[in-house]
Amino acid sequence: MSELIVFTDLDGTLLDHDSYSFAAALPALDRLRAANIPVILASSKTAAEITPLREELGLAACPAIVENGAGLMAAYSSNVEGSDYSNLRRKLDELPANLRRLFVGFGDMSTEQIAQDTGLPDKSAQDAANRQFSEPGIWHGSSAELDTFTNQLAARGISARRGGRYLTLSFGKTKADQMQSILGQFSTPTSIALGDAPNDIEMIMTADIGVIVHNPHHDALPDIDGERDGRIIRTKLSGPAGWNAALQQILSDHGID
Ligand SMILES: [Mg+2]
Repeated sequence: MSELIVFTDLDGTLLDHDSYSFAAALPALDRLRAANIPVILASSKTAAEITPLREELGLAACPAIVENGAGLMAAYSSNVEGSDYSNLRRKLDELPANLRRLFVGFGDMSTEQIAQDTGLPDKSAQDAANRQFSEPGIWHGSSAELDTFTNQLAARGISARRGGRYLTLSFGKTKADQMQSILGQFSTPTSIALGDAPNDIEMIMTADIGVIVHNPHHDALPDIDGERDGRIIRTKLSGPAGWNAALQQILSDHGID
């Protein structure tokens, strides 16, 4: 049994914010694979999006956290049971029209619009639209209007979480909730979590070692408890280059080749 386990966000963390490439992270990924250290992908992406990516990363033997923690995809599986999406969309549509129109979700866009906005190729945009639990979207209102929107959603049991690019609505489970259940499956002493956005904070705080990956495309995350004592670190480099540097350092600190 490996002594480490890694949980990682994708967009803006293991994947470059703009190009979605993980090339800069390959040296650390190779070391992790060679040392048999599980790497758990934890993203707002759907099961349909994560399946080919997990395969490409050589991580099909690891479970993955999908749709911001709403679902858990087992190792080698390509689907997650259940669906809340139409219920979520129905509740969203119950909001007053002046508030509702300020949020443009993936369900309000065509596949072409999603491809254009995310910068993903058409097939990936289709997979991104294939949602089961959560709704990412663009917020067009003020921050005061966002407070009202968030409160009205909360009254309907829906939480709104900020990722690197989108505001994602769901019925509440976080990446950290699924992280806890995966930690129960692996008897691993030390957990590491990496992320770049507010929806990664619980995961970073739950881990033994947290890594905030620099993302120049949005405001820096506020100071988090644990940074002062060095349990949580921030990378200087952004995206996969920062991911690579942090993990190379942690692997060396643990005496892993
Ligand atoms: Mg991210």
